[in-house]
Amino acid sequence: MPDDFERMWSDLAPLGRSAATGGYFRQPFTGVDGELRSWFVEQAERRGLAVEGDAFGNLVAWWRPVDGADRRGVLTGSHLDSVLDGGAYDGPLGVVSALAAVDVLRSRGFVPSRPVGVSVFAEEEGSRFGRACMGSRLATGDLSWAVARELRDRDGVFLADALAAVPGVDPSGAESGAAGVGTAGVGTALADRVECFVELHVEQGRDLVDRGAAVGVASEIWPHGRYRFDFTGSANHAGTTRMEDREDPMLTYARTALAANEQARAAGQRATFGRLEVAPNGTNAIPSRVTAWLDARASTDAALGDLVEAIAAQATERAGEDGTALEVTPESVTAAVVFDPGLAARVAADHEGGDWPVIPTMAGHDAGILSAAGIPTAMLFVRNPTVVSHSPAEHAEIADCLVGVSALADTLARLAR
Ligand SMILES: [Zn+2]
Repeated sequence: MPDDFERMWSDLAPLGRSAATGGYFRQPFTGVDGELRSWFVEQAERRGLAVEGDAFGNLVAWWRPVDGADRRGVLTGSHLDSVLDGGAYDGPLGVVSALAAVDVLRSRGFVPSRPVGVSVFAEEEGSRFGRACMGSRLATGDLSWAVARELRDRDGVFLADALAAVPGVDPSGAESGAAGVGTAGVGTALADRVECFVELHVEQGRDLVDRGAAVGVASEIWPHGRYRFDFTGSANHAGTTRMEDREDPMLTYARTALAANEQARAAGQRATFGRLEVAPNGTNAIPSRVTAWLDARASTDAALGDLVEAIAAQATERAGEDGTALEVTPESVTAAVVFDPGLAARVAADHEGGDWPVIPTMAGHDAGILSAAGIPTAMLFVRNPTVVSHSPAEHAEIADCLVGVSALADTLARLAR
């Protein structure tokens, strides 16, 4: 069984990996995404699982028992896309572990009393169309197709056109509304067809490292959001424009980035500007416009609102001093998610060596979207010794991954008994 895990892991290792950085570029609905999908379908078929897809590029491979095939299923899985230059584990670890857990259960002679599905949600990272958990949001109705169809990637490609280019995906099903979306089984009918969802994920913080535990269970996800800050000023010559005559939006942005850092640091929260677009983006010109994206996270919905408001207020004040203007647009905001406490306790209890720790996370996941849609949801985390994520340095030891697989198998056995 460990061989299967390692074989699957080494199959995936070269797909989308940059030779220059060792990191992954697995953007959704691209050529490499097609390779990842083909790999998943092949693994599912090898196990005799029935693969279903929906209009949004989400996939589920079902293990349907002879008795109980029509009952609501237990869903597990994660995503295969990555951030730009991401790590190997964020996403794929949950998919590979889910397939391996099915193998473990079968080798134990376990027969589920309800379907067990292995899911791959599309565009979880939001690296192409800017919406985190886009596939699960569309599948649960949290994001409407009317809004999503207007989304474009950095090259101006519409989501519908990107989806239409994926073999087996027909976004026209989404056009007809809820009826069309549900037909493949992972659309709006998701909550009706799924009893509960368990997502295994590499840990992205340091909790498990500090506790010396290989595996943990999630209690909650912090509320988080993405906000676009458009700073506008006046383009002018970098040499002939006196310093005191400038209306420089880069300066307002820079001071905003510093203020955001101070603000979040003082309150034990998170604020990050990680993406920037500058126009005209010339070395010898004062920019006319700087667009910066803020990623903000806090322990409560109110605290998140206060944090973003405080950053925006300081930025607006700076803009007044710099002669520039600012507009702030929330692009995607996710409320706090508290996972089903009974389910978390059931997942965490009674293991060899005692209960697993139950810990919060500051990272968003498809599990949060399904939980918010009313599906009882749990998450398992596998220790990440580097404590680095969304970067090539992200890591998990194989021994810990195998503890994760057996933890997931135990959990599925309890839920699908
Ligand atoms: Zn992830």
